[in-house]
Amino acid sequence: MTLKIYNTLTRSVDELVPGGIKKEQISDYPPVTIYSCGPTVYSYAHIGNFRTFMFNDFLRRYLRFRGFRVDHAMNITDVDDKTIAGSIREGMTLREYTEKYTAIFYEDLATLNIEKAEHNPRATESIDEMVNILRLIDSRGILYEKEGSLYFNIAKFAGYGKLSNLDSSGIKAGARYDADEYEKEDVRDFALWKAPRDNEPCWDTPYGPGRPGWHIECSAMIRKIFGSTIDIHTGGVDLIFPHHENEIAQSEAAYGERFVRHWIHVEHLLVDGAKMSKSAGNFYTLRDLLSKGYSPRSIRYLLMSAHYRKQLNFTLEGIRQADQALERIDNMIVRLKDVRNESGNSTELHDLTAGMKARFVEAVDNDLNISAGLAVFFDFITAVNTLISADKLSTADAGMVMDSLREIDSVLGFIFYGNDENDADSGRIDALVRERIEAKNNRNFARADEIRDLLRDEGVILEDTKDGTRWKRKKS
Ligand SMILES: [Zn+2]
Repeated sequence: MTLKIYNTLTRSVDELVPGGIKKEQISDYPPVTIYSCGPTVYSYAHIGNFRTFMFNDFLRRYLRFRGFRVDHAMNITDVDDKTIAGSIREGMTLREYTEKYTAIFYEDLATLNIEKAEHNPRATESIDEMVNILRLIDSRGILYEKEGSLYFNIAKFAGYGKLSNLDSSGIKAGARYDADEYEKEDVRDFALWKAPRDNEPCWDTPYGPGRPGWHIECSAMIRKIFGSTIDIHTGGVDLIFPHHENEIAQSEAAYGERFVRHWIHVEHLLVDGAKMSKSAGNFYTLRDLLSKGYSPRSIRYLLMSAHYRKQLNFTLEGIRQADQALERIDNMIVRLKDVRNESGNSTELHDLTAGMKARFVEAVDNDLNISAGLAVFFDFITAVNTLISADKLSTADAGMVMDSLREIDSVLGFIFYGNDENDADSGRIDALVRERIEAKNNRNFARADEIRDLLRDEGVILEDTKDGTRWKRKKS
């Protein structure tokens, strides 16, 4: 089986070949080098942003699950039009302002169980490499100056438009654009370096003082960290034009080699079927949802469950459905822990878990189709529950199922998220819960109540369900 992923550049589903050279054994591959456009730290990230960051997390986890090593960078954009405007509005220095929102961003990632990338460069720490790119582009005659700003002459770069499939024939030569973000209809020469303005932060360079345009920042950070062509570049579909188109133009013009092998773009997130906007009242930050009482684990599940190339319609009802899906998983785990049979059918269980893993890989290897992978996983849960109900599972079998859950959870990150599996005390609590069940069976209600009270004092809540007793820690 080989992992194939849609490549925006070739417009086809291509095999992932780290380093660009096919090898027989995956273990021989160099680490997969990945760069993801990170947040512009000018406010709280919204739930649409987190769809893309969740995809990055899923991608790196799945690559490791498939035996690849991963070397991943996600930047922090801490200087651009939006951060500068925000810092002026709030009366803070750019550094104070962006540090505040960077810290909030990392907290939100941790809340959603999103792993940190190996590198988190900040744009303002890569100014030297930006100047190097300017120098290289200048030496090829593709750069020009106008009123103290430096522009990229797109007419002199033959490949311009190849990512976004742009027809550049009607472009007016010499027309320029200063803003970081603009539409396809506005395709023009873009600003690499912007002339100093009052109140704006400024760096001295051999080209004069000023500050970077947004696009050159990612090109510089990628070069600084990885040195040459990278395997994967990710971002939301809204970044294809102009941001990624401009990244390609700058990097390939400067260094004269391919910039990125595999471009992966994540589709939009809609809320209640519409584009998210503050005026429509369907704009959510992660913290908005948490304050309404929704659990981050369910939000993680929902954000991850749709295929990345399909639009995801985010609704509060969808979070409730995610709750139910997670409850199915939790209930099975409770039942597995209650298995007491010493004899079972290990061969059947072995085939079942191996089959689940093989079908999961087959599904997800096909353009990272996680929704098909989750269907395989929930079929497995049904099959395990059937075996438990028929009393066909031994304690060893149950252990085998738990092992396979841990393996799959290295990709999903929501099975054992924040529940007893991560609790150092879980063995003792499980034993007390079992003792309480036995006490109740023996009509020793005094002892059963005593155990319940003891656990309650420790902040552990017991729930008696039709599938047995489960416990969880009270959220502080
Ligand atoms: Zn970028």
